[in-house]
Amino acid sequence: MPAELITVVGARRHVLDRIPACGSEVAPVPFALGRVLAADVLAAADTPPFPSSAMDGYAIRSGPAGRRLTIIGESRAGAPSRRGPGPGEAIRISTGAAVPTDADAVIAQENVVVGNAVAGKDTIETATDVRAGDHIRMPGEDMRAGARILEAGTRLGAIELGAVVSAGLGEVTVAPRPHVAVLCTGDELRAPGEPLGPGEIHNSNAPMLTGLAAGAGAVTDAPVRLPDDRAATRDGIGRALEQAGVLVISGGVSVGPHDHVKPALAELGVEEVFWSVALQPGKPTWFGVAPEGPLVFGLPGNPVSAVVTFSLFVAPALAAMQGERGRRRLEPSAVLGTDVRRRPHREQAMRVRLERGDGPPVATPNGAQGSHVLRSLLGADALAMIPAGDGLLSAGSLVALEPLAG
Ligand code: AMP
Ligand code: MG
Repeated sequence: MPAELITVVGARRHVLDRIPACGSEVAPVPFALGRVLAADVLAAADTPPFPSSAMDGYAIRSGPAGRRLTIIGESRAGAPSRRGPGPGEAIRISTGAAVPTDADAVIAQENVVVGNAVAGKDTIETATDVRAGDHIRMPGEDMRAGARILEAGTRLGAIELGAVVSAGLGEVTVAPRPHVAVLCTGDELRAPGEPLGPGEIHNSNAPMLTGLAAGAGAVTDAPVRLPDDRAATRDGIGRALEQAGVLVISGGVSVGPHDHVKPALAELGVEEVFWSVALQPGKPTWFGVAPEGPLVFGLPGNPVSAVVTFSLFVAPALAAMQGERGRRRLEPSAVLGTDVRRRPHREQAMRVRLERGDGPPVATPNGAQGSHVLRSLLGADALAMIPAGDGLLSAGSLVALEPLAG
């Protein structure tokens, strides 16, 4: 494919066209956080499973206020009473405990007056009328056996896992996690905290890209640093291709004399699907597919460009590999809070803060927008996509929003 500029939307369509079919595996609940369901979750049984008390009080038969009842036993959470109350009797009951047979209501303890013991047994007097069903949670009120609780494609957060367990299940069918290898190219890169020599910088992309991949549900290896050397780049990428299903390479993907990623990928037979997107920042983004199937993303090295292109291309690919659906929580568009200068041939991914009120949110640039200004990402809520064009796009214009990976 010729190396011409393609649009962001076009580039993403190319990526999504190359997503391998999503398999499935079974994960026990303690290992399922962050996984994506590959099958619907159906409740295995009614929840609650039995009629239970919504209050601390007494399980009794319904009737008018002013009755004196003898307490003949107790039903505690996890230890139901074996006996039910007859007329004139009450069973002390705690919240969540099984309502005994023969009781058709619960009276809250604050609605009774504890009376004198009669024949060694405590008594209560009901201070309110009690109707059948009062303070009883019926079986299946939350979930009915067989009901669909969660749909395939849902990412399992803490609440979803609670619902799975409540539905009576101990394991779920989920999509396998994509295996992502992060490779950072650059002779100038030093490990976190290492002192810098002349011309050196810290490798900030390594923790960002591995963290973003993990946040998108992937398993990641420790990031690898590759020097700006053709053979080392080829060998490093070759090793990663044997292990991972997705390669995220940062830097070295332009056409400078020390950019070795494209020729190395060509040597390894990785098919180029596109290179160069009409995007600022992130123009030299490369995407291809290796003969054995791994997807390869070559992201520009500037930290902001790397995060923006990860958000626009890699994150959707990882979501699609897991069959994830319906996660987008971001509004589709925002109103610009300021005038923005457009770029003639490139769509801009502006890091913005969103102010929410009535109507669409208002987007304002989150500080200086240079592709080396990592602080433009700190506290940013989204990417506002400024269409290519001439002159200013004026405040009040509606622009599309894209989620920032996180
Ligand atoms: P490149 O895409 O290799 O031409 O790099 C573009 C810019 O990003 C240069 O200023 C690099 O020093 C910088 N850069 C490349 N890789 C990284 C990285 N892993 N962490 C931080 N900055 C980087
Ligand atoms: Mg470089």
